[in-house]
Amino acid sequence: MPAAGSIVTRFAPSPSGHLHVGGARTALFCWAYAKGRGGTFLLRIEDTDQKRSSDAASLGFLKDLKWLGIDWNEGPEFDGCGGGDRGPYFQSERLEIYNAHLQRLLESGSAYYAFETTEDLDTKRSAAKAKGVAYRYDRTESVNRTKQEVAELLASGRSAVIRFRTPEGPITIQDAILGQATLPAGEVDDFVLRKADGFPTYHFAVVVDDELMGVTHVLRAQEHFNNTAKHMVLQDSLGFRRPTYGHLPLIFNPDGSKMSKRDKDKMLRKAVTERKISQPPTNTVSQEEFSAWLAGKNVQLEHAQADRLAAALQVVLPEINVDDFRRSGYLPEVMCNFLALNGWSPGENREKFDNAFLAQAFDLSRVVKTPAKFDRVKLLSFNCDAITGMPRDEFVNRVRNHGHAYHSDFMRKLSAEQFDTLAAASHERSKTLDDLFRLNRFLVTDDQAVCFDSKAAEKNLQGAEPNGLSHLRALRGVLSEVKAWDAPSLEGAIKAFAEAHTAGQLGKVAQPLRVAVSGTTVSPPIFDTLVILGRGSTLARVDRALQMFGTH
Ligand code: GLU
Repeated sequence: MPAAGSIVTRFAPSPSGHLHVGGARTALFCWAYAKGRGGTFLLRIEDTDQKRSSDAASLGFLKDLKWLGIDWNEGPEFDGCGGGDRGPYFQSERLEIYNAHLQRLLESGSAYYAFETTEDLDTKRSAAKAKGVAYRYDRTESVNRTKQEVAELLASGRSAVIRFRTPEGPITIQDAILGQATLPAGEVDDFVLRKADGFPTYHFAVVVDDELMGVTHVLRAQEHFNNTAKHMVLQDSLGFRRPTYGHLPLIFNPDGSKMSKRDKDKMLRKAVTERKISQPPTNTVSQEEFSAWLAGKNVQLEHAQADRLAAALQVVLPEINVDDFRRSGYLPEVMCNFLALNGWSPGENREKFDNAFLAQAFDLSRVVKTPAKFDRVKLLSFNCDAITGMPRDEFVNRVRNHGHAYHSDFMRKLSAEQFDTLAAASHERSKTLDDLFRLNRFLVTDDQAVCFDSKAAEKNLQGAEPNGLSHLRALRGVLSEVKAWDAPSLEGAIKAFAEAHTAGQLGKVAQPLRVAVSGTTVSPPIFDTLVILGRGSTLARVDRALQMFGTH
């Protein structure tokens, strides 16, 4: 084992969208492993798949990691993180480096050019399938070409890949989490090192980079376990060191399905099919895209399209990416705590901890081998505990920041004072930083546009006299005359009214009032609600309710 301080871990995402919780968990473990041992955690962006990579996506990854508090010592420079002299940290900027090492392999005969077209290979694959045998790339034709023939084909502009000449024999993988496994001889065929577009494959780039960046510990998802065999034979051919490998369990939904971005499409498709919707709601997606999406089970909507469709159909999408959880009002420290428990535990029944503890305690010996189940109920309860346990000021600050990030309408329409009152009144009832916004939309709705929940209105504003509406009518006069529009004065006046008219039963007065101003039976404490709305809006809403329900 390398001396403390010389440990180097890396997180190497392919930026193909937002950071998935599985990726975040990998990053967190890599970070903790290095951090707790005085090592280096580096971030490398694996953007060699030209079709899937985008700058915006890698930026999103960096933001998501920063938000979680996962700082990288080396890597792309972003918000005080990164830099370092083992870069560039974007693989797309390292092509010369890969080519130099490829050249070595070509010269030693460990790699060769291959000129088959995709169609050629597909035909061979189908033939193998028809015969019921596993397809293996047949190197005969390629390796028998003379240097001269290869040069001529290349000069003639023929498209070519470079393949690795995989040595014969079984390959044994040592894994610090899963133990040892041997792949029989012939299992790994001559895989591609450089694609026809000149970009290295993942396998080649990852091996070169892990060596040049001095990575000592490769912690990554279990789906890469078999790839490790390829990486090992390549390391041997290139004369590279072998890092310690640890493959982390996948994260599944509680029903055992893989937790994936497709879950959002699945949920939307279900809603659309159940409601027999054949045309997309306005301003969501084009008819053409909508039809293609509905027809093809594997077609996925873009992030923004899915969000728009979900909003139009009033479907709450499951959070999958770190950014989804952030939007939904989960706290970064809770996310880290919870993610760490997906596949690892510190023992002694300890469940709540922060990243500093994780860095100290994290060890591969306690990482489990079997898939982790992502328990959303537990996550929400962790979040709720953290929110209710934090000092009031902190909650108000954090919820304000959340508002600025995701609910600019609230922040525009409410004054700082109104917002602070709302935040303070919502603290104890909040499970997420988003609850306050989700549950109190009525506060920023125009007085004339408040929607009434029909059941709430029926129960509280209608019915036999003296009903809620008659109390409301009488209360209107009291409200218009309350001297100071603050919680104690309102409380005094409304309670006195209840004493006089409903034998002190405050609910009989407060509930109709609440429905009149909010449209529903749930709101922050009624006096706070009225203070936030102000006298003008309160009276306007009461008048509207009296008018709307008075005629029924
Ligand atoms: N770019 C790979 C991925 O996102 C990294 C795998 C690895 O860590 O080697 O899955």
